[in-house]
Amino acid sequence: MPQTSDAKKHGSLYQYAPFEPFDHPELLPKSHPARDLMNFTVAAFHREDENLSDRQIAARKSFATRVKDREESYGDKLETLTPLKHCKDDLQHLFDQLDEFFFFNRLGAHVSLKGGLDVVGKDPLEIDKRLEGETYSVKARGREYTQININLGTDAKLYEMSAIIGQLMHEMVHAYYGVFACDCEDCSSNQTIKLGVKDDWHGPLFLQLHRLILTELRRWGKKFNLPGLASLLADDCPEDKISQGAKERADAAIKKGRVLENPQLKNLHTLTSPRVLVAFTVDRRRVRVHPSLVAKQLAKEEVLRQRLKRVAQLEEEAAAKETARSAQAETETETEVDL
Ligand SMILES: [Zn+2]
Ligand SMILES: [Zn+2]
Repeated sequence: MPQTSDAKKHGSLYQYAPFEPFDHPELLPKSHPARDLMNFTVAAFHREDENLSDRQIAARKSFATRVKDREESYGDKLETLTPLKHCKDDLQHLFDQLDEFFFFNRLGAHVSLKGGLDVVGKDPLEIDKRLEGETYSVKARGREYTQININLGTDAKLYEMSAIIGQLMHEMVHAYYGVFACDCEDCSSNQTIKLGVKDDWHGPLFLQLHRLILTELRRWGKKFNLPGLASLLADDCPEDKISQGAKERADAAIKKGRVLENPQLKNLHTLTSPRVLVAFTVDRRRVRVHPSLVAKQLAKEEVLRQRLKRVAQLEEEAAAKETARSAQAETETETEVDL
């Protein structure tokens, strides 16, 4: 792929295919160029239903069922704390399904998820008045993990379930890059047009993946007749536009940080280049995926599928031969006994 930067140093990502043993490829913490990570997941989910894995389909169904069963319980004032416990269960359940569908079920092992009333608020960058979610990396007792905190409501009142889902998937996109994106000098250079300014991380690769996942979730909403999901984040991302709030935040962070590297000068063309597999449209408000990204991936999967078929065939033939041989041997033994 043209954008794989420095393949030798980073090694290539494992093969993915929507069937065992290729459906949960290993991802290594802080090891993969962010763009490779984005292309890797987009190629695995930005596709027709018939090409999804059974586990993806099951995760999507489970997600939709939970939303259908539970969305009515949201949006109201809380009289006791019991409903909050159920909402926390929902949050973890939704996280797990999104992890399976979009992130190869690899995020969960690295993430600690906390939901509650007003668990987040203050913006450390002082750009927004209030935050509803946050994702950051924690180092404690030799272990490193990623913490996601999400407000389920404020002032003893629960938010709507769709608002919480919008926040959850936003934070999971941060976590995917935060956990697995390489932070070597090479990958960190010109970060403004990749993951964005340090401690903000709403750069182009965030905005693009966020938008593509949002598009997919809205598709689920239509498929399962869930209006809240079908119009997820409609205010912030009208129609097919990228997140305006996140984009504004990224721009504010650039201004605030007085970024030394001038994004006007270096590689800016990659943002909208037709040769880049996932890029913005020329107006930089929408995302487009080059058809070859998924087409090439599907072709690779077909090769793997054929290979597995051949192996299974050979095994079957070998087993048939073995059965014939032992049957033959048995007949011979029986003959001997008869004698
Ligand atoms: Zn690197
Ligand atoms: Zn964010």
